[in-house]
Order: sequence, then C-alpha cells, then structure tokens
Amino acid sequence: MTEGKDGDSNPRSFTHPDTEFLLKRSRTPVDVDGYKKGELTGEVECCECGASAGNIDAICHDKTCPQRDVFSEWWRGSHPNSYRSD
Ligand SMILES: [Zn+2]
Repeated sequence: MTEGKDGDSNPRSFTHPDTEFLLKRSRTPVDVDGYKKGELTGEVECCECGASAGNIDAICHDKTCPQRDVFSEWWRGSHPNSYRSD
C-alpha cells in the first residue's frame, strides 16, 4: 500500500458525496432538551452507525462503521499521522 497520493488510502472528508451525515434536530419539546421540536441541536449524526457528537471529528463510530475514516479537512490537516492509529 502506498500513501500520500490522492486515492483510496486517503481518509474521506465529510463533504465527500459518498458519505452520509445528518444534522440532528430535536425530537422533543423545548422543556426536555432546551431545543424546540425540529430545531437543529448543533450535533452531527452518522447515518451508518447512528453515533453523534458536537462535531464530525468527535463522533465515536461503531467499530464496523464504514464511515469511521471520515474527518473534516481541518482535522486531517492537524492530525496528519493519527487517523489510522488504532
Ligand atoms: Zn459511523
């Protein structure tokens, strides 16, 4: 395997058309979670495994999730060697 070129070995950005994420909306009234029903909560949810977090890089994906390699451009720029560390 060679790395460093544009190709299959690169992690995908969440803006890649093959990736699927959802901006979460509240499913409960405002007095339950502080958000009105249907209002964006600021969390992002992975459509593959259902895990969610405040930003795309903090999502704790399921071990078998095909979108585990998806990070933001910013994260990839600041963690050039750690996205395969586990
Ligand atoms: Zn996932």
